[in-house]
Amino acid sequence: MNQAFRFRIYPTKEQELLLAKTFGCCRFLYNQMLNAKIEEYKKTGKMLRNTPAMYKKEYPFLKEVDSLALANVQLHLERAYRNFFGNPAAGFPKFKSKHRNKNSYTTNMVNGNIQVDGQRLKLPKLKWIRMKKHREIPEYCCLKSVTVSREPSGKYYASLLCEAPDCENQTAGKTYGDARILGIDYAMHGMAVFSEETGEINAGYYRKSEKKLAWEQRKLSRCVKGSQNYLRQRRRLALCHEKIRNQRRDFLHKLSRKIADRYDVAAVEDINMKAMSRCMHFGKSVLDNSYGKFREMLEYKLRRQGKRLVKVDRFFPSSKKCCKCGAVKKELKLSERIYICPCGNRMDRDLNAAINIREEARRMLCA
Ligand SMILES: [Zn+2]
Repeated sequence: MNQAFRFRIYPTKEQELLLAKTFGCCRFLYNQMLNAKIEEYKKTGKMLRNTPAMYKKEYPFLKEVDSLALANVQLHLERAYRNFFGNPAAGFPKFKSKHRNKNSYTTNMVNGNIQVDGQRLKLPKLKWIRMKKHREIPEYCCLKSVTVSREPSGKYYASLLCEAPDCENQTAGKTYGDARILGIDYAMHGMAVFSEETGEINAGYYRKSEKKLAWEQRKLSRCVKGSQNYLRQRRRLALCHEKIRNQRRDFLHKLSRKIADRYDVAAVEDINMKAMSRCMHFGKSVLDNSYGKFREMLEYKLRRQGKRLVKVDRFFPSSKKCCKCGAVKKELKLSERIYICPCGNRMDRDLNAAINIREEARRMLCA
């Protein structure tokens, strides 16, 4: 089981230059290798096997950066390319652009080339970089790789991917008759509705930041493109975006932590978030994919405690069923926000669904 730790790092000016060079080289190599693959495919319809070594002679500057980063470029590209062969409708992988894509690269732990010591991190070619280690990495975690990235705001982060022992088998042999189960229903507004009160779920936490974002955006549109003011404003805007991202992530971590500590099982519907936001053209509430991330966080936090996330079949009629008497409605319009049943049950539509999901999970676990 993998576990990632993300820390802010503070490279020196010199290290910043080398980082920029590494980001650039990775992007350059990716595009070169992809281009060659596309040419080969057009000619023969086959996949070209190319490696970074084939490019180092022609482009000697590639030798100046971490070779493991370049090796990972090859792995990423091959994964993307295999996806294309599995699903040609998706199209070729895209070229990477300096502006559209994130500045990042991944390097691997090989023979102690990466080290963490107090508040510093040692990376190949870069030596020691100052790092704000705001939390401890548990002893049992074994470092596998590090992804270094530069945010549009100019801040640098290192994400340390570790391997932690799996505690899956703790779940075996457990009985679920009186397990604490939380049913979770996806909700377009407010992200999710729970079968029980879990305390505040406050989606308005970034409303304030959003207002500021709109204001900074307007200010940027009034600046002369390319001017000093424009560049300064663009950085301010990037900081604003980053703050919202951080607030959202922080919120999701805290919420999933609370649930993982309090419940034995969390039950969700087995829905494909990507397909959903594609075909339904929802607003940003789905596009920011908070719910997908939340589910992921919840799943690994539960697993680490030997607990489970249960997925209920997507054809289970969670919305149409009455959670009190079990009757299933033939039809339920999206506009019907209150579930009303002839048995006298009258409750919020999403709450009714969340309770049904919880009970379905209990049935599955006990079966
Ligand atoms: Zn009923």
